[in-house]
Amino acid sequence: MQRIIVNCQLSILVVMLLACSSRDSAHQGETYTCPMHPTVVSDKPGTCPVCGMDLGRKAREGEEVVISKELNRLTKSLTRLSLLL
Ligand SMILES: [Zn+2]
Repeated sequence: MQRIIVNCQLSILVVMLLACSSRDSAHQGETYTCPMHPTVVSDKPGTCPVCGMDLGRKAREGEEVVISKELNRLTKSLTRLSLLL
């Protein structure tokens, strides 16, 4: 049960990462994917046909991802929690 909770928290973290990098989504050639179903890929924003979650913009190769202090704190606490399980 605890592993399921940690997996959900990690999924939320992935969604946050995707959301942080989606500010300039007007660029052409960008793709969108589901954090829970990475095989689902679309050329426009929308929802996942499998689970209904919002698709997040996929980071381009070599694109810099900025990690905020809050995201860094959340990552460290999730890492500590996963070490305890
Ligand atoms: Zn999905």
